[in-house]
Amino acid sequence: MKLTFATNNKHKLEEVQAILGINFELAGLEDIGCTEEVPETGNTLEANALEKARYIYEKYNTNCFADDTGLEIDYLNGAPGVYSARYAGEQKNPADNVKKVLSEMQNANNRKARFRCVIALILEGKEYFFEGIVNGEMLNEPTGKAGFGYDPIFQPDGYDCSFAEMPLDKKNKISHRGRAVEKLIAFFKS
Ligand code: IMP
Repeated sequence: MKLTFATNNKHKLEEVQAILGINFELAGLEDIGCTEEVPETGNTLEANALEKARYIYEKYNTNCFADDTGLEIDYLNGAPGVYSARYAGEQKNPADNVKKVLSEMQNANNRKARFRCVIALILEGKEYFFEGIVNGEMLNEPTGKAGFGYDPIFQPDGYDCSFAEMPLDKKNKISHRGRAVEKLIAFFKS
């Protein structure tokens, strides 16, 4: 089945294609000729995911899904949350975001956090939501070189390494996006 994933992030496309398997042919935004910025003006993950999916469905006439993820840190009252990509400014620089979080958490004893991913799917005009969560802790310094975003400073519960120290297939099995995509797949199978 052909399906558009409303993203330009090659890491995410690769991650999700690996989870979906060969029965799905995933196209990214570039593949469908969408080069403009897709609007993302909501103040919840759900609103953003749906806004992106609706935009692509209506303009490009393709079944599609969009995701939105936030890193929710207890000590920061749920921040950076829906603002995770641009926490340190509109330049959306991952290294700056990591630096900002670490500096705000210098004195934090409670380091509990979670990644929460919401997927909005539009299939023949009908809208569906899927949520995936991975709980963990914020590390004191970046560790590991794999992955992207906040991976070097997030350690999932039950592991003694950061997401950035995990091979992709291992991260996919337990990640927020992996879990949301599992639900998406279960939906397609049902
Ligand atoms: P998006 O909605 O998936 O684009 O995610 C928003 C922001 O959350 C990204 O720019 C990253 O900073 C962060 N993020 C999302 N997923 C991950 C992940 O798997 N690892 C680390 N950071 C992530």
